[in-house]
Amino acid sequence: MQELVERIRQKKNFVVTSHVNPDGDNIGSSVAMTRYLRSIGKDAVHILDDDIPENLKFLLSDHEILRSDRMQDNKLGLDSYDLIVVDCSVENRIAIAPNIIEEADCVLNIDHHMSNTNFGDINFILPEVSSTCEVLTGVLRNIDEDAIGESVATALYTGISTDTGNFLFPAVNEKTFQTAAFLTTKGADRVTIANELYRNESLESRKLTRLVLETFQIENRVGMIVMTQAMLEESGVDYKDTDFIANIPIDTKGVSVGILIKERAEGEYKISVRSKERVDVCEIAKKFDGGGHYHASGCTICGEISEVIEQLQKVSEEQILKDLGNG
Ligand code: 5GP
Ligand code: MN
Repeated sequence: MQELVERIRQKKNFVVTSHVNPDGDNIGSSVAMTRYLRSIGKDAVHILDDDIPENLKFLLSDHEILRSDRMQDNKLGLDSYDLIVVDCSVENRIAIAPNIIEEADCVLNIDHHMSNTNFGDINFILPEVSSTCEVLTGVLRNIDEDAIGESVATALYTGISTDTGNFLFPAVNEKTFQTAAFLTTKGADRVTIANELYRNESLESRKLTRLVLETFQIENRVGMIVMTQAMLEESGVDYKDTDFIANIPIDTKGVSVGILIKERAEGEYKISVRSKERVDVCEIAKKFDGGGHYHASGCTICGEISEVIEQLQKVSEEQILKDLGNG
C-alpha cells in the first residue's frame, strides 16, 4: 500500500481507466479515483472505451469520461503521466488504447480479482475484499481522508453496493459494512443510490426478464438462462443494460451454480457464472479462458448454442461435485 500511496503523492498527471463491459465497481472506482485526484490538486483524465450502462449514469452528471478509441491516432497529448487501472484483472481487458498503456511512466494496478495477473508496475490487489471500491476507499483514506468528498463517497458506495449484490454476497464482512458506513458519513446517500441502482427498472427490462425466464432450466443443481439478440430486439433493451439478469438463476432454490448465457454476436456468447455456497465458479470460467472471483466469474465462448450449454453444464456439474460432493 505504501509504495502506491507514495507514487500517487509524488506524481502530477494521471490517466484513470478500468475494464471493458463496465459495471458499477468499474465506474464507481474509476470515477472516485479521478475525482479524488483532482480534489488533491492533481491533473487526472478519465478514459474508458466502452458504453456506460444507463443505471450508472447518475454518477456522471458533472463528470466526463473520454474515449481513446475516438481520439485522433489515440493521442492523449500528455508528456508524462501514470496510468491507474482499477478493477481490471488482465491487461487485455483494459478499456483503453494500447499505446496509452505503453507510454505511461508507471502503471498502477488496483484491484480485488483473485485472477489478477499483476500486470502493473505497482500492484495493489486484495482478493479477499468485496470490491475494488472497498480497496480504493482504504487507499484514499491513507492518502488523505479529509479529501474524500460527497461525489467520491457516492461513487465508492455505488461500487461496493453493486459488487456485493447490495451487501448480499459472501465476500461481505464487518469491514465492508464499516467502509460503507464511513462513506455515508462522507455524504453517500444510500437510499438515493439504492433507488438509482435497484428500484428503477424500465418496463422494457421487465419484458426482457420475462423472455429470458422462459429459457430457465435447472438440472443437477445447475441453473441456466439464455438471452438472445432477438430478445433484446423484441424488448427494446440495449446489450450494455443487461447485467441485472445475471443473478436470476443463482437466486433460485436448489441452484448451486447459476449461469447466464448472453448472445453478444452471432456464435459468440458472454457467460456469467455465479454461486452462493462453497463452489468456486472462477475455476469454471478459467476452463473457458475467463476469470473473476470465487462466487462471480465470467468468460466468452464461441460456437453452437447447444454445445455451449452442454459444455457449461458438464464443467459446472464437475465443479459442484468437487466442491460440494453428492450431498
Ligand atoms: P460478469 O459475469 O458480471 O460479467 O463478471 C463477473 C466477474 O468476472 C467480474 O469480476 C468480471 O471482471 C469477471 N469476468 C467476466 N468476464 C471475464 C472474462 O472474460 N475474463 C476474465 N478474466 N474475467 C471476467
Ligand atoms: Mn469488481
